[in-house]
Amino acid sequence: MSLTVAIVGRPNVGKSTLFNRLIRKRLAIVDDTPGVTRDRRYGEAHLGDLTFTVIDTAGLEEGIDDSLEGRMRQQTHAAIAAADVTLMVFDARAGITPMDEHFARIVRKAKRPVILIANKAEGRAGLDAAREGFSLGLGTPLPLSAEHGEGLGDLYDALEPFALKKAGEASAAQLDADLEEVTSLDLDEDAGEEDVVEAPPAPKHLQLAIVGRPNVGKSTMVNALLGEDRLLTGPEAGITRDSIAIDWSWQGQAIRLIDTAGLRRHSRVTEKLERLSGADTRRAIQYAHVVVLVLDANDMLEKQDLTIARQIVEEGRALIIVANKWDAVEDKNAAIKKLNDRIDWSLPQIKGVPILTVSAMTERGLDKMMKAVLDIYETWNRRVSTAKLNRWLSEVTAMHPPPLVAGRRIKIRYITQIKTRPPTFALFASKADDLPDSYHRYLVKSLRDVFDLPGTPIRIVMRRTD
Ligand code: GDP
Ligand code: GDP
Repeated sequence: MSLTVAIVGRPNVGKSTLFNRLIRKRLAIVDDTPGVTRDRRYGEAHLGDLTFTVIDTAGLEEGIDDSLEGRMRQQTHAAIAAADVTLMVFDARAGITPMDEHFARIVRKAKRPVILIANKAEGRAGLDAAREGFSLGLGTPLPLSAEHGEGLGDLYDALEPFALKKAGEASAAQLDADLEEVTSLDLDEDAGEEDVVEAPPAPKHLQLAIVGRPNVGKSTMVNALLGEDRLLTGPEAGITRDSIAIDWSWQGQAIRLIDTAGLRRHSRVTEKLERLSGADTRRAIQYAHVVVLVLDANDMLEKQDLTIARQIVEEGRALIIVANKWDAVEDKNAAIKKLNDRIDWSLPQIKGVPILTVSAMTERGLDKMMKAVLDIYETWNRRVSTAKLNRWLSEVTAMHPPPLVAGRRIKIRYITQIKTRPPTFALFASKADDLPDSYHRYLVKSLRDVFDLPGTPIRIVMRRTD
């Protein structure tokens, strides 16, 4: 039995669009005819290396009256009951409507695992709007754009524990921890939390992507890392068509190297990787935990390099920057200085990105690079206790009080980490919406320094307390 996922929510929030994206049907079966009703639809969904059954409850949208309402409720109930986990979708742009609340009640009553999806959350405005979903009492909303395909990596992360559970792969204890993270229905003060929760979870597969412009040396690097005789875990081993994975391990850490188009046609990695298109790069990033961005040391930080770097940060992946072909650089001191300066200047949102110099050809520096990969993976998984966070909060807010808004000071009351991968914190404040970006940056910078979180994206979601 494969994992079964239901998509529920009021009409028009994007359930069909999400369904179609997951089953990879570009042509939406969105029907404009009023009064059209459809039964639940089932499809085989693919997300990275996950395959699952998805149930769409869309199709009862038009002309909702009392009798239809009853049917809708029934459909939703049936779908939730048939599924291992439910995706409750709302429209981040439209905000929370009474009908969303109605659906949320049905979902809450079912007492089954649920992931709250803030759809149509493309762009900055969408991300801000997604916050509203907290009020549904279904946990932290996961921002997504079904139409643009954004946020699918986060959805993958949220679903993966359920798939593992289904596959019986993970130990019960590990899973409970993971499941609790994605299904926590309430963010109430975890008052009883002790100070000793910082051990990272025992990592399973570290999913690693190696990306960069053509000719920077990615194939050479992969071959050097894997050695010549490594066989691919190819499509015949059940890998979905859009993602190719090579399982290998480095010093005892299981690693899944994610590649997309590149390795598809070859049975051995000794052959040259095909050029990755922008879309392939994006996909590799979405399914990776850690992304190594490879630059050519002779030709560093082109615009395209920075675009990829920003994409990695936006997707919330841990980033490592590697200047390859270091053997061919003459003035190494000048080159490293130039590289550091440019990264500092162009990627201010992510201080402390590890920057390494390697030669894939001579294999020099590759061990150090892999060590950095493991370190940043640990950082990306780090959990900071609520007690420590709130001690920190009272210090930083005392040092630099939040600004006045309309003559009254914003009161920041409480902070807790709601998610890892990447570290994500909920900050409870009065007038949360008015907190200026500069103060937000101040908090992120301090969090990064004090809790030693270099190189990983850090997210803070604001929650209003008034
Ligand atoms: P359903 O009734 O919940 O199945 O919703 P549909 O999938 O039919 O989508 C309703 C409308 O929202 C359609 O016009 C979609 O094109 C649009 N839509 C769906 N997903 C997104 C998204 O991620 N962003 C934006 N801006 N629009 C979306
Ligand atoms: P890809 O397109 O990113 O996969 O790049 P390739 O691995 O095919 O490498 C492109 C070219 O750079 C090839 O001619 C490689 O031999 C060369 N190359 C790769 N790594 C190194 C390196 O560390 N030093 C030098 N000098 N050349 C390299």
